[in-house]
Amino acid sequence: MTTLSSLFPAPRHDHSECIATGLARAEEICQDRQERLTENRRQVLELLLAEHRSAGAYDILERFDWKGRKPAPVQIYRALSFLETMGLVHRVASQNAYVACSSRGEGHGTFLLVCEQCRMVAEPSAAGLSRAVKELADDSGFEPRAHMLEVIGRCPDCVATGDA
Ligand SMILES: [Zn+2]
Ligand SMILES: [Zn+2]
Ligand SMILES: [Zn+2]
Repeated sequence: MTTLSSLFPAPRHDHSECIATGLARAEEICQDRQERLTENRRQVLELLLAEHRSAGAYDILERFDWKGRKPAPVQIYRALSFLETMGLVHRVASQNAYVACSSRGEGHGTFLLVCEQCRMVAEPSAAGLSRAVKELADDSGFEPRAHMLEVIGRCPDCVATGDA
């Protein structure tokens, strides 16, 4: 059982393990679905895994290092949309940005805690929430296809260091 506070990673830690784990998982998922983790899909994912913060397509484009070449924005969008379909990144609608997935749990990607100060994003287990949404929908005869909930506020580190 994860506690809520451990959802947010330590503010300054070595991301090499986060990147390695994330890329290994991406390779596995792509292989399962017979998709290819192309050079730019991999690079976009790696940039998002290098922090636990959201980044917009243009932030990603700026940081992109493709052997000296800059991809076109449309290539970044295509890579993001592929990664999103694979469940490897999630869109953060409130920030018009993307974040690397940090959970494999039930209903992942449907519930995000978004720090508006440092753009840190955590992905708590959404199992209970999904049940609540289903109950609500059942009660009203609504047929849900998907749901996304973003809770906007300040992460534990910003709360601790901020002067409110
Ligand atoms: Zn990390
Ligand atoms: Zn996820
Ligand atoms: Zn924060």
